Amino acid sequence: MDLPADTPARCPVCETAYDSVSVHDSGLMVNLLDNPRYRRVCFEPVEGPAVRFYHHTHEQVIGRGDGERD
Ligand SMILES: [Zn+2]
Repeated sequence: MDLPADTPARCPVCETAYDSVSVHDSGLMVNLLDNPRYRRVCFEPVEGPAVRFYHHTHEQVIGRGDGERD
């Protein structure tokens, strides 16, 4: 798992467990349709131009009652 040192135990956006975090400071594309591993990615702006992506697997999202809102 690739985690920055100061990431929380649960996603700060949806409070669900996550699998990994990535940090981006430039344009990118997100397409999770039919992704076999990740069901949802939450985006958290951080200081400066970067944003962190919290990657949730299908298993981490299903069962929380919000799996259809990704
Ligand atoms: Zn989340």
